[in-house]
Amino acid sequence: MSRKKIIAGNWKMNVKPSETAALVKAIAEATAAYADKVEIVCCTPAIDVLEAVAAAKGTTIGVGTENCHWEDHGAFTGEISTGMIVDTGATYVITGHSERRQYFGETDETVNKRTTAAIKAGLTCMMCVGETLDEREADLVNEVIGRQLKVGLKGLTANDAAKLVIAYEPVWAIGTGKTATPAQAQQVHAFIRETLAKLFGEATAETIRIQYGGSMKPGNAAELLAQKDIDGGLIGGAALKAADFAGIISAAANAK
Ligand code: PEP
Repeated sequence: MSRKKIIAGNWKMNVKPSETAALVKAIAEATAAYADKVEIVCCTPAIDVLEAVAAAKGTTIGVGTENCHWEDHGAFTGEISTGMIVDTGATYVITGHSERRQYFGETDETVNKRTTAAIKAGLTCMMCVGETLDEREADLVNEVIGRQLKVGLKGLTANDAAKLVIAYEPVWAIGTGKTATPAQAQQVHAFIRETLAKLFGEATAETIRIQYGGSMKPGNAAELLAQKDIDGGLIGGAALKAADFAGIISAAANAK
């Protein structure tokens, strides 16, 4: 089964609206040669998303947000709905990022509500899972990831899975410069695919892309992306410089 690689930047709280168009355009220019081989996405702060969509027009860069709420509208100060995201022209969203879980009280249940709302709205949803260092050292990786997947994807069907991407992001590797070894990452990706097969059936599980995230850079991307079940990357720091992001995308384009 060949799955198109997907490389998505997660800009986090780092780029101002006035800086957005220049970064999107620089990324589009630096990655144009790989556009047919790799799905390229920039997930931006909500306040940047209109600028990003406008700058990406005429390119193959997809644009998304870093979160969404599960209700259509209402008294949810500070949140954005999937309808609002769709209205901007953005087509992707990240749910369940470990920083949302760690700092903003996100639980597997709220991740499930956000993921479900995103997929029902037609957005491609990159749902993040990953263990902390303590959980890894206590040999709880499969238990934690298995629970995050089962609860996070509860109620979704094999049809819904067409809009689903899973991002495996070991919390201890995010923004720390520490990367899971390709073998460590592949082991967890294989476990994720097995779990997806139990939830949606084997044929569907084979079609779902699983990204790796955690200090992925041009220098380590090729080895990671060469692994059988690693279908792309969710990139933080290295997504903020067009040349670095393009280096990862070039590795994805050349991965077997
Ligand atoms: C992320 O936050 O999704 C991430 C993977 O960050 P970094 O690449 O900076 O580790």
